[in-house]
Amino acid sequence: MIDKETLVAWDKRYLWHPFTQMQDWLTEDPVIIERGEGCYLIDIDGNRYIDGIASMWTNVHGHNHPELNTVLKAQLDKIAHTTLLGYSNIPAIQLAQKLVEITPTGLNKVFYSDNGSTAVEVALKMAYQYWQHRGEPQRKLFIHFDNAYHGDTIGAMSVGGIDSFHTTFDSLLFKGIRVSAPEAYRSSHTINAASNDSKVKTHWLNAVERALSEHKGQIAGIVLEPLIQGAGGMLISPKGFLKELAALARRWETLLIVDEVMTGFGRTGKMWACEHEGVTPDLLCTAKGLAAGYLPLAATLTTDEIYNAFLGEYRDLKTFFHGHTFTGNPLACAVALENISIFERENLLSKLQPIIEHFRNRLQEFYELQHVGDVRVCGLAAGVELMKDPDTGTPYPFEEKIGLQVCKEALTRGAILRPLVNTIVLMPPLQISISELDALMDIVYTSIETVTKK
Ligand SMILES: *Cc1c(COP(=O)(O)O)cnc(C)c1O
Repeated sequence: MIDKETLVAWDKRYLWHPFTQMQDWLTEDPVIIERGEGCYLIDIDGNRYIDGIASMWTNVHGHNHPELNTVLKAQLDKIAHTTLLGYSNIPAIQLAQKLVEITPTGLNKVFYSDNGSTAVEVALKMAYQYWQHRGEPQRKLFIHFDNAYHGDTIGAMSVGGIDSFHTTFDSLLFKGIRVSAPEAYRSSHTINAASNDSKVKTHWLNAVERALSEHKGQIAGIVLEPLIQGAGGMLISPKGFLKELAALARRWETLLIVDEVMTGFGRTGKMWACEHEGVTPDLLCTAKGLAAGYLPLAATLTTDEIYNAFLGEYRDLKTFFHGHTFTGNPLACAVALENISIFERENLLSKLQPIIEHFRNRLQEFYELQHVGDVRVCGLAAGVELMKDPDTGTPYPFEEKIGLQVCKEALTRGAILRPLVNTIVLMPPLQISISELDALMDIVYTSIETVTKK
């Protein structure tokens, strides 16, 4: 067995970590995870941590899950990978059937890829090409939102709205119409009050309708994260916004692209965020939880109408010329099928409701802390925003790294977290128990208290 010292040395020598200032990383003592057990991660020194972020928002049923492991091993003994380009495989077929069954009615076709960004790229390219086949090639623009996050590839960034991630690459991005958030947005949907909710909703809907009218016949689609904007800071959308936006898209005959990469697979309390508002989008993207957090897998689902527009003679070149090498990987699809089976067998979504309620109640307590400015929650996803002075809304300066400090403190107390700037994200595996959740909430509470009192 390789010793820890070597691992740390090699990590610092050979690895470049994502979304990480490596200059800081090089001075720190990295946590190297070796094993997982349910909601716990165990490092090479044997320390146990609650996985408070479900391993970057992916894990559903816990780590090292016996049934998922069994299914994965069984598939491995048959075949690990074979291509979907011109051929098919059993798990990819079965999963497509299942996904159509469990997604909103009307989404009847499944296009696989490997991650959230590519699921979004596929949706954008499908929408764009669809309009060409429909004889409306001037529909080239996408409407998207401030604070949105759809991934890090160029197309996904183009419909994003987080300046710190995207400004550097501005000249590489294609132009769309970015709808700005009203001032009231951030504070409009705290756990306690939704006083500005309808004001924010009206602001947004008006802005979208203005764009649709100013660019009549030029809008290819509207792209959004339903109910909650994740990487933008766990920002909750006004109630009814998604439903009214869908109606607006229909009225102006454009496409609605819903990015359920984070919200899918039960995160919001229903299988899909869209279900909360009875919406069937034209395109739906899923990734993170799709293969239960085990393997990279993504899918873009769409309607017969869009699919049919791509049918034609071979020579007509109406084919969707897009595909990733590992598309429909059998191992990942087999795990995803078992993921869905567990939801059904264990009636997970109804078991989840008391956990979500407990989560909400425990989150209320965070307002007792002097530097907690806002608490936002949607299902089993929450953001606790820290502020230098909540009364005046004064944020902590960026360079204070307050979010990272709290996460470091939490680590010493036995929880793995990852902040979004000054917002502490809580997103445990859905299978977390009440007592594990309590342990997590206690750690986060004490860590915020300790760090912000310094
Ligand atoms: C994480 C995320 C993505 C990007 O997924 P990757 O697998 O990291 O490429 C896209 N959209 C949303 C809403 C996400 O949360």
